[in-house]
Amino acid sequence: MNISLYNTLTRTKEEFKTIDNKKVGLYTCGPTVYNFAHLGNLRTYIFEDVLKRTLIYNGFEVKHVMNITDVGHLTDDADNGEDKMEKGAQREGKNAWEIADYYTQAFKSDLKHLNIIEPDVWCKATENIKEQIELIKILETKGYTYNTSDGVYFDTSKFEHYNKLSHLPLEDLREGARVEVNNEKRNITDFALWKFSPQDTVRQMEWDSPWGKGFPGWHIECSAMSMKYLGDNLDIHCGGIDHINIHHTNEIAQSEAATGKPFFNYWLHGAFLNIAGGKKMAKSEGNFLTVEKALLERGIDPLVYRFSALSVHYRKPMEYSDDIIDNAALGYAKLKSQLAALSFSEGEISEEWQTKFRQAINDDLNIAEGLAVLFDLLKSDLSDNDKLATVFDFDKVLGLKLKDSLEIDVNNLPPEIKTVFELRLQARKNKNWLESDSLRDQLLALGYLVEDSKEATKIRKK
Ligand code: AMP
Ligand code: ZN
Repeated sequence: MNISLYNTLTRTKEEFKTIDNKKVGLYTCGPTVYNFAHLGNLRTYIFEDVLKRTLIYNGFEVKHVMNITDVGHLTDDADNGEDKMEKGAQREGKNAWEIADYYTQAFKSDLKHLNIIEPDVWCKATENIKEQIELIKILETKGYTYNTSDGVYFDTSKFEHYNKLSHLPLEDLREGARVEVNNEKRNITDFALWKFSPQDTVRQMEWDSPWGKGFPGWHIECSAMSMKYLGDNLDIHCGGIDHINIHHTNEIAQSEAATGKPFFNYWLHGAFLNIAGGKKMAKSEGNFLTVEKALLERGIDPLVYRFSALSVHYRKPMEYSDDIIDNAALGYAKLKSQLAALSFSEGEISEEWQTKFRQAINDDLNIAEGLAVLFDLLKSDLSDNDKLATVFDFDKVLGLKLKDSLEIDVNNLPPEIKTVFELRLQARKNKNWLESDSLRDQLLALGYLVEDSKEATKIRKK
């Protein structure tokens, strides 16, 4: 079955075609690790996770690369202001490397809470400086760069289709870039490839380069690392919509100028998470909510947030409020209780329902429609076993841990069941397989099903 995806480059929903058969190269712009990720950032990572899961569900072999911006992202997108990392370090009295490590770990923990599958390759800007310098050298040789007193810049007037992603008249792009005017720039849309360290200060993060000591501009890392880790498999590149006009536009310009080849065939962008009144949730706005503050501290399972994000199409703005989260919590709990009420043993995935589900999600990731298919399936006259088998199949895309939700915590088992369960655990530990099989049958006769995996043995009602 075909997958159609909305491509910002062509502004149409297109049938997805890979460069190399069943392989997909996927690059998602990662976090700038000078602070916690907020729920808005994480909405974008949930959308990208669902995209990846949908591709895998359709039989593609996905290689997913995500960068960690741990240097060089200045406080304004026009290459002025302070380095966000060094600023974060000052704020917290740590050094920039410690800040980067701390917030990278915090980000990975957020991904885990939201059941977002980690990328196959994590790559840090600071560990790929050589590759960025090499790319800038190519651009210099081809005549796309010029030097100013504070850095090496890309001359956007030399790249013919600079606005091919944004589709904006150049005038408008210039307006957008006008944050703080740098008089030495030839065109207002020009951007830094390499910034020099200031003469009078020693930066915590700086490297030698053919142009002088300094650090890379923000955009160059994504070009260098996506080409390094994905080779020619430049299929899909994603981020939030705020990346369209500057970051992704600049990535395309410098990459295509350097290689003379198209850089990524599909560009997908997620809409914002806003707070009430339509204001974007942003790190700089003080309106920003984290997994810890908004969910864990309120005793809310982070998967409730995932559930609410799944119910809004990724290209539509989503509004955040406590009410929306409370409603999602009710919806998610109701779904789990509906599943818990079904009797369970081996079932078969229903192809008919699977087709309906696939039709929904393959239509530019219409996950809300996919959830509607799931609820219709639960109302259908399919057997309980087949319903559950099919729902668990859908959950490969939804990532709501629906199977796990049916597990019973051992401490909540009736005492007589708990005793048999623990005897069986002991028998398995002693590799006494005959006894463990017989105890499993005993539990089954008592209405409980056990499931063994490498990590753990789980138990649930039959
Ligand atoms: P950053 O750490 O600022 O580079 O952002 C990480 C990702 O979050 C990028 O893909 C951004 O486009 C995205 N993003 C930033 N703010 C929001 C928001 N309010 N809603 C959705 N995505 C966002
Ligand atoms: Zn990027």
